[in-house]
Amino acid sequence: MKISKYKNLYQITYLPTMFPINCFVIEQEQKLLVIDMGVRPFADQVKKISEQTGKKVSHLLLTHAHADHVNGVPHFRQLFPDVSIGISKRDSLLLTGDFELKKGESQKKIKGGFPNTQIPFDFTMEDKEQIEGISVVESPGHTPGSISFYEPNHQLLIVGDAFQIRGGLAVSGTLNLLFPFPKFATWDEDKALNSAKRLTAFQPKLLAVGHGNMRQEPQQAMQQAIQKAESRKSS
Ligand SMILES: [Zn+2]
Repeated sequence: MKISKYKNLYQITYLPTMFPINCFVIEQEQKLLVIDMGVRPFADQVKKISEQTGKKVSHLLLTHAHADHVNGVPHFRQLFPDVSIGISKRDSLLLTGDFELKKGESQKKIKGGFPNTQIPFDFTMEDKEQIEGISVVESPGHTPGSISFYEPNHQLLIVGDAFQIRGGLAVSGTLNLLFPFPKFATWDEDKALNSAKRLTAFQPKLLAVGHGNMRQEPQQAMQQAIQKAESRKSS
């Protein structure tokens, strides 16, 4: 387990050298917000951060329903029974075992690994909603209901698997031979590309993803990743 910090954002990384999985903690004046809970030990680590800072966790927010982003939630619930857990309305269906594609959605198969146990959640989120000053940004493509979070004070953008950094910055759906997993788990590559453009428009000072290290001043690399995904599309 490795912890890195940028301004008010902690990145907790599980298996940093093999298949890195990240969990994030945003430290606010009074409380902590947690983003993603892929493995149980993240919950223990969040508890330590809460004790060290003397701040309570207010929410756990999930970027999407893939197992490597939610499998630690049952343990988190045991350690933090009062913390409210949220996921997008669309991906909440995946957590309840409903994999049907909806009207108007691309009829591609939803890919990737999903949890095989019940994942508890308390509320669902939609685009532009604010949670403790953090904006919810719909960014579908990797899954139908993938969402990202924008923290305006330090211009942090936390995107789950909408981008990947492990093996080089890329839009979800772009094959990266050094770390191919997000590509194989992506539902709709066109939507993922549109979402990547939408996210880039935030001009974040920091990009944080589910797999790979945080990236400072990421705009240029995000633009390049978009161009790469586009050229692949037209070729
Ligand atoms: Zn994923």
